[in-house]
Amino acid sequence: MDIFEKCKNLTPLNPLYEAKIAIEKGVYPFFLPLENNEGTEAIFNGRRVLMFGSNNYLGLTTDRRVREAAIEAIKKYGTSVTGSRFMNGTLKIHLELEEKLAEFLRKEKCIVFSTGYQTNVGTISAIVGKDDYAIVDKEDHASIIDGCKMSFGKMERFKHNDLEDLEKVLKKLPEGKGKLVIVDGVYSMTGEIAPLPEIIKICKKYNARIMVDDAHSIGVLGECGRGTANYFGVEKDVDLIMGTFSKSFASLGGFIAGDEDVIFYIQHVARSFIFSAAISPPNLASALKALEIMQKEPERIENLKRVSEKWRNGLKSLGFDIGKTKTPIVPVYIRDKWKTVYMWKELLEEGIYVNPVVPPGVPPGDSLLRTSCMATHTDEHIEKGLEIFKKVGKKLGVI
Ligand code: PMP
Repeated sequence: MDIFEKCKNLTPLNPLYEAKIAIEKGVYPFFLPLENNEGTEAIFNGRRVLMFGSNNYLGLTTDRRVREAAIEAIKKYGTSVTGSRFMNGTLKIHLELEEKLAEFLRKEKCIVFSTGYQTNVGTISAIVGKDDYAIVDKEDHASIIDGCKMSFGKMERFKHNDLEDLEKVLKKLPEGKGKLVIVDGVYSMTGEIAPLPEIIKICKKYNARIMVDDAHSIGVLGECGRGTANYFGVEKDVDLIMGTFSKSFASLGGFIAGDEDVIFYIQHVARSFIFSAAISPPNLASALKALEIMQKEPERIENLKRVSEKWRNGLKSLGFDIGKTKTPIVPVYIRDKWKTVYMWKELLEEGIYVNPVVPPGVPPGDSLLRTSCMATHTDEHIEKGLEIFKKVGKKLGVI
């Protein structure tokens, strides 16, 4: 049997079968190139569209100061470090960013990885050993699940944001074993916030450590965007805070922060940290500049909150089902997979860019359009976006 057979003949059981149908119907929604992206607006197919489909929460990817910081870093250090952090890949600005992040997150130590994905797989596979347990929320990000799969420990899952189920899972695990509960601070598709104070209480009862993936919360929640733990006032009780630079930080990379001995351990054991080239100078410099702006300009986060609320309220009052979000990530539940894709296409044609999320990205019946706000969105952007949603939602019978 030819190992490439599955790529050539797509049967209905093949995960790509429906992608092929979408291509045939002219509604394939992925890998579509933007010709230009100015933040709140982008050029697609020669036309200007409103951008409501990015993770650029603070709108810093096009900020003059962030761009200049990246350019200056290239001038000073070149484009790449061409090596692992263990070898020739550590620059002074790696250490500077790590120190500033640790201070920002009020943790003893922090290390930066080349991506958020690598941060999760490296951290989890380093910490969860042969006799240990990783306990994850069923809606945790794929990189968390992959980290558990790469570890030698066992993975247990609990129902999304369900405290009773978390306790049920923890209760049945052997008492003397190491346990790490891993949750997203803000869930990337639904915008829901993890109930950290209650989760922490349960973790303490069962002697489990807790790690929070704050990819969508840093720069968004808490004082100056310090994330979910700060938002709930429980920074001291969260053992590991993970984040990524590919969202509010307007860059690429990831980090993990916690106690010094734990971070030292991860630094020497995480294979995605050791066996991959270090984060590049322009990525470091732009993340550093974004971190500085985040703290100096809290009004950005205030505006993000304000426009997100306006967007959520607007969609809700038009009759859309937006679930339980309280964040800039606003899902518009369509429920039907193909209707979601058709609505995405109509919205794009009418001038707004959002992301269709269909199974396996979400459970069947939960297909949605993922929309997200930015600190640089204006009232006009929100109003225009709502107008388009109203027109298309009515046309397709969603509202
Ligand atoms: N965790 C979460 C919750 C995410 O949403 C993402 C990216 N979408 C990651 C981790 C991975 O981050 P990165 O894009 O930096 O690899």
